[in-house]
Amino acid sequence: MNITQITAQRALRDAPVQAFTLVERLVKRPLFGCQMCGHCILQDTAFICPMACPKGLRDGPCGGTDVYGMCETDPTLPCVWLRIYERADRLGRMDRLMKLQDDLDWRGHGSSSWLTLIKRAVGRNGRLSEAERTTT
Ligand code: SF4
Repeated sequence: MNITQITAQRALRDAPVQAFTLVERLVKRPLFGCQMCGHCILQDTAFICPMACPKGLRDGPCGGTDVYGMCETDPTLPCVWLRIYERADRLGRMDRLMKLQDDLDWRGHGSSSWLTLIKRAVGRNGRLSEAERTTT
């Protein structure tokens, strides 16, 4: 087998995953500003993507906002975590903000978080845990 055949074989093997990832990107980017971090926590952040934070904070605000609630890194933006807090309060989802998030594994950046959920479900005879059932 030559290099062209190997490349073609790999492209065919990876095509379904890439197509699935593209669908997730096309749905979540316009809706949530998704940056395809690979480990979605929208369900815990009142459906506002925490990766919009210039510091990429996933566990709450840095504390550097000004008195108007604007970001210290980019003063033209309201603090993402202030928006999350306000929406969580409106939606009655404040308890979810108390959940300590795992560190983000950056090796998964660009991959599909939906696919990860499906793989986990299949690995458990198709059953999702409570936390996974509420994931977007
Ligand atoms: S997958 Fe990551 S970047 Fe995309 S919406 Fe969820 S938390 Fe945000």
